Amino acid sequence: MSLQNLGWDSFFESALRRCAGDRPTPGRIAREDAGRYLVLLEEGECTAELAGRLKHQAVSGAELPAVGDWVALRHAEAELPIITEVLPRKTVFSRKAAGVVTEEQILAANVDTVFLVSGLDHDFNPRRIERYLTAAWESGASPVIVLNKADLTADLASAMGEVEAIAIGAPVVAISALEGGGLDSLAGWLNPGSTIALLGSSGVGKSTLTNALLGEARQRTGSVREGDSRGRHTTTRRELVRLPSGALLIDTPGMRELQLWGEDADAGSAFPDLVELARSCRFRDCGHRSEPGCAIVQAVSRGDLDPARVAAWHKLERELAHFARRHDARAQSLEKARWKKATRAMKQHPRVRRWS
Ligand code: GDP
Ligand code: ZN
Repeated sequence: MSLQNLGWDSFFESALRRCAGDRPTPGRIAREDAGRYLVLLEEGECTAELAGRLKHQAVSGAELPAVGDWVALRHAEAELPIITEVLPRKTVFSRKAAGVVTEEQILAANVDTVFLVSGLDHDFNPRRIERYLTAAWESGASPVIVLNKADLTADLASAMGEVEAIAIGAPVVAISALEGGGLDSLAGWLNPGSTIALLGSSGVGKSTLTNALLGEARQRTGSVREGDSRGRHTTTRRELVRLPSGALLIDTPGMRELQLWGEDADAGSAFPDLVELARSCRFRDCGHRSEPGCAIVQAVSRGDLDPARVAAWHKLERELAHFARRHDARAQSLEKARWKKATRAMKQHPRVRRWS
């Protein structure tokens, strides 16, 4: 398969040229499993390992290869090929793993187009679509709003109108993944070598759409488990797959979980008891350190509350604030490019592709 059909372009070519030494072999990550990577190559695929230098010098998980990444490989005598470099990413979907230490985790790299799937059923929620749109523009990928379950709505026009109003620059498409209606309207984004991903809340039809996009290719490759009527679990577990159209679909567990994004991303959700207690502080903007009438400080001095827990809460809040600032800075620098892209998208695609 040509590198172009795997998504290679001049951006990655010039990045590869900057790698030291002889030209390394480029490859694209299709799966990571316990430190081993399934890598797609021009001439096939291989299982590769991380160079020790990369593994030990990485200060955050974001520096390690993720599904969709382009990497540089060196062949080692009688050993697995070695990943020596992760090439710069064009787009990134990431999530901050809120724990004691906040770390950015890459969920998918180099996605060109993201289908924001939502259902035209009782769950229809334009505010949520707005949040997914923000996540999509921030990733650098171009969003397409896919309204699924069009077979269930009596008033497609008004639902689409409502979404168009918030869709600045993003095309809106209505489909029925179950019945196959409107699927051809997605064809424009499914060109050979272009990378897509699906984003949306649970139950909106992402698996159904994935299966529809995979079509008979899935049966042909025999990757569906025998006798598994759910059919969605494949024995190969590869997370970057080629669709019959030649487009590449990234479907990682992380992307499936990203549905929680923005609905559960503050320090309070990790410390609900402290949030509850803080309601009784005298000042609404209490910092819970030395303020008079602070319910948190009082609980600690009474011995009702472990000071270590309060410290962990403060720490998580600081980290989230820091992350938000960094995120903002990155968002600002991306904004110009994003608007340029949005304007271009508006010119290139009719904003609405109606399902008939
Ligand atoms: P996911 O959680 O986003 O992967 O959603 P699923 O693909 O598992 O779909 C959730 C439910 O919605 C299933 O019962 C599907 O059969 C149903 N569903 C998916 N697409 C459609 C559609 O276009 N029309 C209708 N009526 N139901 C659909
Ligand atoms: Zn307080």
